[in-house]
Amino acid sequence: MHLDRLLKDIREGYRLTEEDAAALLNIRGREVFSILATADEMREKKAGPVISYVRNQNIHITNICKNLCGFCGFGKSPGDEGAYCNDKADIEKKVALAVERKVTEICLLSGVHPDFTTESYEEILNWVTRAAPGVHIHAFSPDEVVHASSMSGIPTVEVLERMKKAGLNSLQGTAAEILDDDVRSVICPNKLKSGMWAEIIREAHTMKIPTTATIMYGSYEHARDRARHLSILREIQDETQGFTELVPLTYIHTGTPLYQQGIARPGATGMEDILLVAVSRLFLDNFKNIQVSWGKLGLKMSQLSLASGANDFAGTMFADDVTKDAGAESAEYLDPSVMERIAGDLGRPLRQRTTLYNLL
Ligand code: SF4
Repeated sequence: MHLDRLLKDIREGYRLTEEDAAALLNIRGREVFSILATADEMREKKAGPVISYVRNQNIHITNICKNLCGFCGFGKSPGDEGAYCNDKADIEKKVALAVERKVTEICLLSGVHPDFTTESYEEILNWVTRAAPGVHIHAFSPDEVVHASSMSGIPTVEVLERMKKAGLNSLQGTAAEILDDDVRSVICPNKLKSGMWAEIIREAHTMKIPTTATIMYGSYEHARDRARHLSILREIQDETQGFTELVPLTYIHTGTPLYQQGIARPGATGMEDILLVAVSRLFLDNFKNIQVSWGKLGLKMSQLSLASGANDFAGTMFADDVTKDAGAESAEYLDPSVMERIAGDLGRPLRQRTTLYNLL
């Protein structure tokens, strides 16, 4: 590969192939810096100088999960020590706190509870919408949609319709992990297959339910699997334009069975983290927004990512037990004044946004 020529072609509008993306993800040494610089240039062209963030709060419903994925330290079986499922009063209390904190988005994060049906999800949405009218609800994954569909014996489209009617504003693009069934059979064998993930996302987009796109990398997959994953996301976005952003999720390994059993690597290196952001910016020419997950990356790597193709600082969060239980040091609350300092040091403005990227 002649890197300088390739980067020049990208600047002039060339669309990278999946093979190009895999090759770029494998580059090491000082050539990496040319990739980062080009990705930063493309970020400026596509998204401008603004670094955005959303004032949001994560609310965990339950950590009881039927999937027990090997890369996760959060999910528990019913009856396990520390297993919980919040009831109506617990959830309303958390929502009231979120409203007090003036969040514009509530993000519901959960295990896939084996007993939850479509009615359970509707009920939760009803509790939240009543307690936080006007606040955007970003919740549930394609895996939860499929689970609700099989529990209630109705098509997934009907589950999505009912969720939307009960107050769901956008669906989480989680459960994507790596969209390759060989990798999934090792890291999350009980989760829905990659084709089904793509199908639910397409259904949601067709129904005008926007979703995020995620990639969970650094555990067991190779660069070619990451490139395949990005290619699937780009293909869907070409068809639907329904993804709001890419959320790269670096694997936090210490508290997870996959690492403890010696199957997964101890997460991505810093170079892999930053290249994933940069190559995503170059490859996903139909995405405007690329986010940094500060709870997983830490603030210093987040800043470098924002200088290498990313444009969004994610949210204030207030809680992220999923990341903490996997072994991350800090994933609680990030004050916008800290984001401001980091953005200012990059010479760029910080702006609050809505979930759907309207600047406030
Ligand atoms: S990643 Fe999600 S689905 Fe998998 S075990 Fe953890 S909570 Fe459950």
